[in-house]
Amino acid sequence: MRDIISNFPVEKFKDIQTPFYYYNTDLLKETLAVINNETSKYDNYHVHYAVKANANPTILSIIKDAGLGADCVSGGEVETALKAGFPPEKIVFAGVGKSDWEIILSLEAGISCFNVESIPELENINRIAKEMNKYASVALRINPNVDAHTHSYITTGLSENKFGIDISLIDKVLDKFTELNNVKLIGLHFHFGSQITDMDSFRSLAIRINEIQEIFYRRMIIVENINVGGGLGVDYQNPDKNAIPTFREYFETFRKHLALRPIQHLHFELGRSVVCQCGSLISRVLYVKEGVDKKFVILDAGMTDLIRPALYQAYHKIENLSATNTEKEDYDVVGPICESSDCFGKAIELPITERGDIFAIRSAGAYGEIMASQYNCRKLPKPYFSDTI
Ligand SMILES: *Cc1c(COP(=O)(O)O)cnc(C)c1O
Repeated sequence: MRDIISNFPVEKFKDIQTPFYYYNTDLLKETLAVINNETSKYDNYHVHYAVKANANPTILSIIKDAGLGADCVSGGEVETALKAGFPPEKIVFAGVGKSDWEIILSLEAGISCFNVESIPELENINRIAKEMNKYASVALRINPNVDAHTHSYITTGLSENKFGIDISLIDKVLDKFTELNNVKLIGLHFHFGSQITDMDSFRSLAIRINEIQEIFYRRMIIVENINVGGGLGVDYQNPDKNAIPTFREYFETFRKHLALRPIQHLHFELGRSVVCQCGSLISRVLYVKEGVDKKFVILDAGMTDLIRPALYQAYHKIENLSATNTEKEDYDVVGPICESSDCFGKAIELPITERGDIFAIRSAGAYGEIMASQYNCRKLPKPYFSDTI
């Protein structure tokens, strides 16, 4: 893989207020080109970008221009996707708790599908659609009960989980459809976790979907759309070597193991794998502090700018972009927030570091900027883009 993201324009960074997000738009475009190239091999594959990973308008506009659809999990995301120019017929709306206003605005916009997660939700969408004299297309989010072998906070596909409908309840749900006249079943939806790098997990999902489809066939139902959700992981350890995730293996896994009927379309909702590697959080070293047994690098970026390490114990590669020293030392790299979880990494080997050095926290394009908060009355980090900086 070409080393296209390690070329940080550090000289330009020197004049910019840190911390900030830096996005390599060439890498994003190249990633999208790989996705399009892979899916163009199949005429019934469709990719919706999961807006929650990064809703930056510039990023969304590049993704929209590449022709992807949008997967939204709130009314705000539906509005954001529409504003970014995604056509409503390429927008799907998932989420366990959809409010009435979110359902109304989605029906008004004419989005393609609601991914429904419970019977009361189905009834509510039907009621609202009826009042608006409209029909809502829905996909049932089925809990595949497949373990994604990922962090428990980002596993969503096990039975005792707030997400999805358990397959044992399917008769009840299908009976509902016969009572409700303003909802139309057009698909089955699955999403079982995130940061999944083992293709065997996706193979298990595909095989499980085949079994679930059989349950529907027995009831004479063939839905038009199968949506396998997102979850493809990225290489946080080697963001340069593996800048573009393993899309070919991913799509091939479904082609090999998922039994689609000729009329069926296959939908994907990729978030992290699209945007993660193109973004870095750039920060300055405020102080290098000597502890009793260790040294701390105190950055001006903290968990308010990138919460993943504090929230999920997530690993991000940390680099000193401006070090001139080749000698190395171990540091705990921490932020300035008044929380002890505000730590980006412990015992990280780095070139000898000084106040004023510029750091990159890599693979921060997904669930980074969008999760930033103003805790401690901090300013939100601004975004900068490689093509305009
Ligand atoms: C979060 C989410 C996604 C995207 O997950 P990634 O791991 O970022 O690919 C897709 N679909 C649904 C329903 C989600 O909630």
